[in-house]
Amino acid sequence: MFQKVHFRLAALSGGITVFILLIMSFGYLYISEQGLKSSSFISFQNDMSTLVSNLEQQTVITHEWLAKTENNGKYLIYVIDNGIPFLYNERDTEEQKLLFRNVWDYYEEQFAVEPALLSYGAYHIEFPFSSELSYRDDYYVCVSVSERNSGTFQVMILFPLDSLNQQIRIQRSLFFTLDILAVIALFLFAWHFTKRLLKPLEENQKRQTQFIAAASHELRTPLAVILSCASASGQAADTEREHFLDSIQSEGLRMSRLIDDMLLLTNTDNHSWTIRMEPAELDTLVLDTFEAFEPVAAEKSIRLSVVLPENALPAVSCDQERIRQVLAVLLHNSVSYTPEGGRIRLSLSYDGKNTCISVEDNGIGIPDSEKPRIFERFYRSDQSRSQKGHFGLGLCIAAEIVRAHHGHILVTDTPGGGSTFTVILP
Ligand code: ADP
Repeated sequence: MFQKVHFRLAALSGGITVFILLIMSFGYLYISEQGLKSSSFISFQNDMSTLVSNLEQQTVITHEWLAKTENNGKYLIYVIDNGIPFLYNERDTEEQKLLFRNVWDYYEEQFAVEPALLSYGAYHIEFPFSSELSYRDDYYVCVSVSERNSGTFQVMILFPLDSLNQQIRIQRSLFFTLDILAVIALFLFAWHFTKRLLKPLEENQKRQTQFIAAASHELRTPLAVILSCASASGQAADTEREHFLDSIQSEGLRMSRLIDDMLLLTNTDNHSWTIRMEPAELDTLVLDTFEAFEPVAAEKSIRLSVVLPENALPAVSCDQERIRQVLAVLLHNSVSYTPEGGRIRLSLSYDGKNTCISVEDNGIGIPDSEKPRIFERFYRSDQSRSQKGHFGLGLCIAAEIVRAHHGHILVTDTPGGGSTFTVILP
């Protein structure tokens, strides 16, 4: 599913950016081409003004002058003196003659000035022309009309736009190459960007799926016991029925505790879980927890001791009930994983900046390979699997609560064996 979403998101974001890029680059290309064309046409008009005034100053137009002008400016020149083509143009190729004729027809159709206007003197006009002869060729054309020896003297000058077109072609291919590279780069970027964007969502969904699978697995065991006890109690004698009902009740309580834990974790995931911070006297809280766990430890002949600082601690801003829950998880684990006759020490200290609460036992300890995993959801060591009431959620909940207080929870080995859990609250 994520692959599909990733592909669609990448295509959408890449497509939109590419669309904007193409519109902008084509717009820029169009404007730049128009600028190039208009500046070259203006420069042609300037050249023609000079050339035409030069022409008017010549008393006799020689073939040498025409050939030299043609060569210098890479022009094609056609001269009509009093309606008769100049002898100079006899040497033009058939194709050139046809071209001149076409341009002249076009000029007469579009721009030819009434003969009456000629009385105002000479004029020249410039216009672009595209020939459709053997292949498409573009020219700038200048037609100059003046009076000479009391007749009309018409000169047509064609300037082929090969170099301008070549320049435009180079500019276009450069743009296309850059556009293609930019399109590839944008799609690659969109692909990686959306992948990074979706990664946390994908991981979250994976975690949720694992959580649901593990939760269903954990709920199945007490549920199976409840169902089998319920069906067995139907045929059981009165004395036995009581035993089945006790089992149903204890498994029901187990399920309810598990559901509470799962709800708490789900709420932390949704960020719908709030902690109520208020000033609390942690020494009192630690002492209360110690007193609550003393009988539990005594049942297993475990010596539970408490160490408190000599001076009263400053009040710490925290959610008392949640911190009590953390201590209960740690002490419950210590009692569970410490053999009979062991010892557990609950201590509180303050270093002027942080408050540390530690639970130190001389129990079975945690191998280094397992230490990073014990805070994961539903992680249990093989040994603890056999213990009822241990779902592998306790430390994970404790870690979430401590994180919500911007604190840390650490696990180390107790010197001589066992584990020490330390909660540091800022
Ligand atoms: P559980 O409900 O199984 O105790 P926790 O999340 O509280 O789940 O603990 C995860 C695992 O960490 C336990 O299964 C156990 O292997 C290990 N563990 C936790 N506390 C201790 C301890 N004090 N001594 C040894 N192992 C411990």
